[in-house]
Amino acid sequence: MDLKVHELKQNARQYINGRWETSGTTGISQNPSDTREAVAEYARADRSQAELAIRAAAEALPQWSHSGPQRRADALDQIGSELLARRDELGNLLAREEGKTLPEAIGEVARAGNIFKFFAGEALRIAGETMASVRPGIQVDVTREPIGVVGLIAPWNFPFAIPAWKIAPALAYGNTVVFKPAESVPICGWALAEIISRSTLPAGVFNLVMGSGREVGQAFVDSPLVDALSFTGSVATGERILQTASARRAKVQLEMGGKNPLVVLADADLDQAVECAVQGAYYSTGQRCTASSRLIVEASIHDAFVARLRNRLVALKVGHALDRDTQMGPVADRAQLEQNQSYLEIARNEGAEHVWGGELLERPTPGHYMSPALFLAKPEHRIAREEVFGPVACVLRADDYEHALALANDTEFGLCAGICTTSLKQATHFKRHAQAGMVMVNLPTAGVDYHVPFGGRKGSSHGPREQGRYAAEFYTTVKTGYTLA
Ligand code: NAD
Repeated sequence: MDLKVHELKQNARQYINGRWETSGTTGISQNPSDTREAVAEYARADRSQAELAIRAAAEALPQWSHSGPQRRADALDQIGSELLARRDELGNLLAREEGKTLPEAIGEVARAGNIFKFFAGEALRIAGETMASVRPGIQVDVTREPIGVVGLIAPWNFPFAIPAWKIAPALAYGNTVVFKPAESVPICGWALAEIISRSTLPAGVFNLVMGSGREVGQAFVDSPLVDALSFTGSVATGERILQTASARRAKVQLEMGGKNPLVVLADADLDQAVECAVQGAYYSTGQRCTASSRLIVEASIHDAFVARLRNRLVALKVGHALDRDTQMGPVADRAQLEQNQSYLEIARNEGAEHVWGGELLERPTPGHYMSPALFLAKPEHRIAREEVFGPVACVLRADDYEHALALANDTEFGLCAGICTTSLKQATHFKRHAQAGMVMVNLPTAGVDYHVPFGGRKGSSHGPREQGRYAAEFYTTVKTGYTLA
């Protein structure tokens, strides 16, 4: 089967045990840039179909977990190559289904392709250790083995990259997979699964189940056959998953929200700092867990920074994701748009000072458009503490560097933190003292490499890091062997 996305008219189906399966009900995926356009119809699984997929993955495990690394590497490399070759076409699909701009979407598909290629290499580099025993004549070896069946639950904001950074290491290290894409982006998940289905993976090793979190996701969480769960999404869902899955002793990895600070010191290159803020807070319509939603600015440059940032926001082009001029696409769906709007009201009611934007916009096509919003806030305002997950940022005034650092760390989250400064001393101090899993100096907080660890601290993450070589910590378990020589 060699379906091209533009030929994909109807009924994207589940992929279970090497076969494409229909479901009792279907759903329609909608284009947020033009809500008159149905991207495609897709099958919606119920719990029993999710359980079938889990059983298929469990049955495929014994053979796949003992398969040679060359076989895994070849399959992953083939998937990566096709993603890279079809980045423009799949980027177009992604822009239509999720609403990020076409260049952002093409970049994301390319990133997904590179992730598969990276883990194709990692499959060949699964190393262990050999040590002398403390007891004479005994040899000790430490090896990594797959954990088993892994349930992968993804959010809607990176519908190719996040599934890729879960699926690729899971397969590279010899696990079998049940994968559930988010409900608003099933067709991207389907398109990825369609490519995987034509690789050389045996039936049952990879399974796609589209449907609701309550039925399909919960079936993954509850099933005793699912040995590990990797989830990216909201804090509320992540915490529920952790409770249920840890009670049955499944291994759990959670990547959740962020309220990421970007500190701008008085000595910063102001143009560069404003650019970091615009890109970090508003690109991808602010729908990134690494978005800089708290801009912490030293008092002496506060007003100049706000004025320049406001000018940039006034000029930012909001429009259809496929329009060449668009710099910020629509919000991904109506529920998220409503959440963003409700936070604007909360901000106003709590006394945050409105600087610019936030209003709903009309464009030639009906879509979920709003202008980028900026407020001046106090640290206690909800807009400065809770994740909005939209194009909404606030500026907090800091007396000096120490105050800025304290404000940056004054959050229950800890995914990413950034600083703009020309002082090596302050940058180095910030890198050491920011309570976050990732720290950026003179760069936007959003925008990371695919070959190094990704993840946070505090309320943002739970369990080992994703991506890079560190992915082995989650997707393998360690065995210690003793041999009498
Ligand atoms: P969400 O938590 O609503 O959904 C995430 C996934 O979980 C979806 O596939 C959903 O269907 C599924 N799900 C929902 N209920 C479930 C249940 N009971 N059992 C199992 N699965 C269930 O989040 P979302 O709206 O898709 O994404 C937005 C949120 O994700 C934001 O809060 C954002 O910060 C966060 N996010 C975090 C990261 C990160 O790496 N830290 C990356 C992207 C998004």
